[in-house]
Amino acid sequence: MVLNIGFNMDHRGELVRYFMESYIRGLNTLMGGNASIKVGDYVLITPSGVPKTELSEGDLVKLSLNGNVLEGSRKPSTEWRMHLAVYRVSNYLAVFHAHAPSVIALYLAGLRLDLNSVSEARSYIRRVDEVDFIEPGTQELADEVSARIKDGADLVVLRNHGVVAVGYSLPEALNKVEVAEDTARILLSVRCLKPRD
Ligand code: 13P
Ligand code: ZN
Repeated sequence: MVLNIGFNMDHRGELVRYFMESYIRGLNTLMGGNASIKVGDYVLITPSGVPKTELSEGDLVKLSLNGNVLEGSRKPSTEWRMHLAVYRVSNYLAVFHAHAPSVIALYLAGLRLDLNSVSEARSYIRRVDEVDFIEPGTQELADEVSARIKDGADLVVLRNHGVVAVGYSLPEALNKVEVAEDTARILLSVRCLKPRD
């Protein structure tokens, strides 16, 4: 039997569980999105291209803060640059990226997430910012998202793509994605019911 030094079942279990939750909740497709947590001086991140229904703790990838693979046989998420860039500019401990469909739709409709429109959004999300469409998985996307987080945003909308939420724990970060999605759905419903100004 091989002993994995530094292997932490709790962090791994938590990451698999909350990533799966994002699928069950309709915030991510089977293959979409990614999530990570910072544990001391390393980061655990979801692998690239593994369907969530097949994902197990051993599929997670352990990365150093400068992007070296420390443990894991899978490829890290293609957004690993973005996750690490966020940790480098902040004290956050969790990053969640989801393809939240109603948020994408809201911005395609020319609207924005107004945190003051829904009490829960005001309570849980401090500041929303956005970036124009940038090719997924690029350093440019990592730079733009981390700059918004450094400026104080805790939820960044990636136009035509999804959202990135940060927190001090995975449930905190995922909750921000859920609240953003619910708020977007409410705002879109209102737009459908009310004629345009
Ligand atoms: P990965 O499976 O590589 O994490 O990619 C999913 C994604 O959402 C890219 O933006
Ligand atoms: Zn994505």
